[in-house]
Amino acid sequence: MDFLKELGIKEKNFGASTGLTWFETTDNGELEVISPVDGKKIASVYLASEDDYEKIVETSQNAFKIWREVPAPKRGEVVRQIGDELRKYKDALGTLVSYEMGKSLQEGKGEVQEMIDICDFAVGQSRQLYGSTMHSERFQHRMYDQYHPLGIVGIISAFNFPVAVWSWNAMIAAVCGDSNLWKPSSKVPLTAIAVQNILADVIKTNNLPEGLFSLIVGRGSSVGEKFLNDKRIPLISITGSTGVGRKGAEKISRRFGKMILELGGNNAIIVTPSADLKMAIPAMVFGAVGTAGQRCTSTRRLIVHEEIYDKVKDSLIKAYLSLKIGNPLDESNHVGPLIDKAAVEMFKDAIIRAKEEGGKLITGGEVLEGEGYESGCYVVPAIIEAENQYKIVQEETFAPILYLIKYSGDVSIAIEIHNDVVQGLSSSIFTNDMREAEEFVSHIGSDCGIANVNIGTSGAEIGGAFGGEKETGGGRESGSDSWKAYMRRQTNTINWGKTLPLAQGIKFDI
Ligand code: NAD
Repeated sequence: MDFLKELGIKEKNFGASTGLTWFETTDNGELEVISPVDGKKIASVYLASEDDYEKIVETSQNAFKIWREVPAPKRGEVVRQIGDELRKYKDALGTLVSYEMGKSLQEGKGEVQEMIDICDFAVGQSRQLYGSTMHSERFQHRMYDQYHPLGIVGIISAFNFPVAVWSWNAMIAAVCGDSNLWKPSSKVPLTAIAVQNILADVIKTNNLPEGLFSLIVGRGSSVGEKFLNDKRIPLISITGSTGVGRKGAEKISRRFGKMILELGGNNAIIVTPSADLKMAIPAMVFGAVGTAGQRCTSTRRLIVHEEIYDKVKDSLIKAYLSLKIGNPLDESNHVGPLIDKAAVEMFKDAIIRAKEEGGKLITGGEVLEGEGYESGCYVVPAIIEAENQYKIVQEETFAPILYLIKYSGDVSIAIEIHNDVVQGLSSSIFTNDMREAEEFVSHIGSDCGIANVNIGTSGAEIGGAFGGEKETGGGRESGSDSWKAYMRRQTNTINWGKTLPLAQGIKFDI
């Protein structure tokens, strides 16, 4: 496979690096990476040891001390060069994302495009790390706030966006003056190793310090735990399930660390009687089956008005029956595999549980076997008629299961159903009624971090702040003013006068 060679992926790879240096630990276990596409072994990775971890953190601390003194626009110039390198490797890296994770080739390349886009965004951001000035209440005083580099930023990423999530964090952190340490999902470590290789030329050309961009592939129980508890890492960004996020957050907050939590979603689309179904149906189908339902923003619930319920249901069944399921590297297929067999078991289990609670499976739900499906990870996307209060509907099942829920009455009823889950990531409404649309995005509307009108729930542009409320964790990444989380904020008051007035008019005569 030429793309592996192009990306420097060997049969056996090391799992720890501070940039150009790889730690050649071989006695801490070896991770076999199996592709969900064909069930074949792609390569293996030697797991990093706790000793490697210690060396990486020390190196990364030193890198921070050097990097924070580089003027921010010059840091932006380095990020610009990283974007250019990613452009060169877009096809190869996109193909590896697709082969290692199982998303379609188009989505794999799209993910690399997202990395390139965030580099461009971060370059501009490097000249816009603004604070504000305030008028002081005291005579001849000046007051302002400013943002300083923070330190090492820890990045824990989920399997479903193996490379983009790193770049959302790392490129913004880099222009903010931070070094960063990436712990990718052990389901997709090769894409992370490939990214580390792509960075090498930029590191060499610019004589960047070792430890500025570090990588560690290790066991959660040893390296992962050390990482979460490590006081030397002021900020950890966790992208993953709510369960993992909750446990991580408890540890980070015990040491008063900062965190960005990007956790699970339970995203819904409301479809009202005036909706343009020509737009709504493809949005629902793409939202539910794209990336085989393994996006944090995948559409999991449809809340449809009773007047159009049967029409929507029939159109969806028709669309689902025409889906082509198979190798995601073949661009004519719509749906690829789930990440592994454990995910297939979760898919099957969720369908059983939904039925036990009274749900009606109306299409899909099978596991595919035979030629082309040897990995055992291909399933037929399912639609289940259900009610929002079912326990299983309240959970995020990371698979292509769409719950069809009927509502009657006005849009506020649909919004109430919509908000009645513990997660709060992405949401949307399809309507041509301006009042319904405005109510949905108003303060009495959707309680999610992302609320869309007449577009689906999945996929987001890097320019906006990405993240969700409630058990999705409250973090924000990527665009808008998300950069502020990667810096420490300081309020400064300068007295340029010859007296010492105290605040609040307090007198202290001595
Ligand atoms: P996961 O929670 O199983 O793992 C997430 C990451 O945490 C992985 O890198 C994993 O290795 C790491 N991890 C697990 N235990 C750890 C420990 N003890 N110490 C340190 N690290 C540890 O999630 P996943 O299956 O990889 O991804 C799917 C989940 O991620 C879904 O819930 C999805 O909604 C969520 N997700 C959220 C967003 C978002 O932006 N909100 C984006 C992508 C995925």
